[in-house]
Amino acid sequence: MKIKIPENVNIIINTLVSRGYSAYAVGGCIRDSVMGTLPHDWDICTSARPEEILSALGKHNVIESGLKHGTVTVHFGDELYEITTFRADGAYTDNRHPENVIFIRSLRDDLARRDFTVNAMAYNEAEGLCDYFGGTDDIRDKVIRCVGDPDKRFNEDALRILRALRFASRLGFEIERNTSDSIRRNSGLLRNISVERIASELVGILDGEYCERILMEYTDVLSVFIPEIQPMIGLEQRNPHHVYDVWTHTVKVIVNSPHGRLMRLAALLHDIAKPRCATVDEKGIGHFHGHPALGAEMAGKILKRLHFDNDTIDKVRLLIKYHDLRPQPEPKQVRRLISKTGTEMFLPLMELKKADAMGQNPETIKEKLEYTDRLEQMYRELTADGSEFNIKTLAINGNDLISLGISPGREIGRLLKEMLELVIEGGIRNDREELLREVRRRIDSDTKV
Ligand code: ATP
Ligand code: MG
Repeated sequence: MKIKIPENVNIIINTLVSRGYSAYAVGGCIRDSVMGTLPHDWDICTSARPEEILSALGKHNVIESGLKHGTVTVHFGDELYEITTFRADGAYTDNRHPENVIFIRSLRDDLARRDFTVNAMAYNEAEGLCDYFGGTDDIRDKVIRCVGDPDKRFNEDALRILRALRFASRLGFEIERNTSDSIRRNSGLLRNISVERIASELVGILDGEYCERILMEYTDVLSVFIPEIQPMIGLEQRNPHHVYDVWTHTVKVIVNSPHGRLMRLAALLHDIAKPRCATVDEKGIGHFHGHPALGAEMAGKILKRLHFDNDTIDKVRLLIKYHDLRPQPEPKQVRRLISKTGTEMFLPLMELKKADAMGQNPETIKEKLEYTDRLEQMYRELTADGSEFNIKTLAINGNDLISLGISPGREIGRLLKEMLELVIEGGIRNDREELLREVRRRIDSDTKV
């Protein structure tokens, strides 16, 4: 098999080879090339020790961070390349990090410590593809399989459990039976993995083109770090709007959401409170009163636990809090919703509502999508002039009121709020002159009384 290696990568490899070391492009870039997709970066592995890499490549374009782990980063053209010395991992004691790494001279042993067969291939132009563990066969068969004994590999580093799910979700591969059995047996080890790493793999899993199947088949693994998911599984909704249980519905909403971490996390957690809010009325119809508000609160706690940043947490909470609001597509109600979401989050909220609709009773989808289209259309008209229908974008501010003779203090805030209400209700436009006229009128009538 012939792989086209970028010129810079070839230069690095050839420089090392000319000094008597062996060097290859390795890992994800070879997997992607064998699959016929464009790698997003190129990693290089070599028998040269870090200090030998430094002396071969000249210090001027080398970043020395990561040196003690055997990784040298080279700045070449506009790109960064990681060059890693062949290594074997020492003993693992915390289900994540080897006690020490041992530099070795054998490519095969370096490939043996890598996680999955599809990630354990190397290539250079002189030797062609080095595939000792059946990576090409597994790519052909669309299989994720551990290199070596899965139990041992997941015990060494439990993050590999989530990496397996992420690659399967991204590539549309099936996880080979021994590997998947081992994942289920060992998923509890994820408790020993840092939440930051879990969070970033979770986002990768949710964002995969083929996440539906993974999310359905490995729900128990996700429940290890988000136990709130467990009661969603199999929870019937007993409602004409729904044909799926809460978890199946949730997965369909994830799949139908735009890519990206914000939307996928919001979709994952939008109905997280349904199990706690479930009731059945006297007619046998299911309801989940209060689930958006409680869901926003639960989502906030879950995302905080996973150390997501505050901006993401705030936005996900907002989306969940309002996901079930159904304003009439008329200006007054749409302006009120904009005042709650701001212009930044209105359209993302519509995206979540559309995805939500697509995970509901198929007979109701068309009508629900037409409804969100009408809301979006109205949103565009109402915000064309930059209005957001909040105090910040009101065409007058506190200073204007002070200039009209109102003394600074609570009165100002109250008046601004009243003006905003008036704008939302449609009694007046968000126009400076009109607003000032109205304030003057109110002051006059107050003094007359
Ligand atoms: P991506 O396209 O997501 O970057 P990748 O395969 O390049 O995929 P990286 O996380 O960049 O994945 O890692 C590069 C390579 O290092 C992998 O292909 C794999 O060979 C090896 N590797 C990375 N993480 C692990 C791990 N936890 N255990 C074993 N090998 C790993
Ligand atoms: Mg990579």
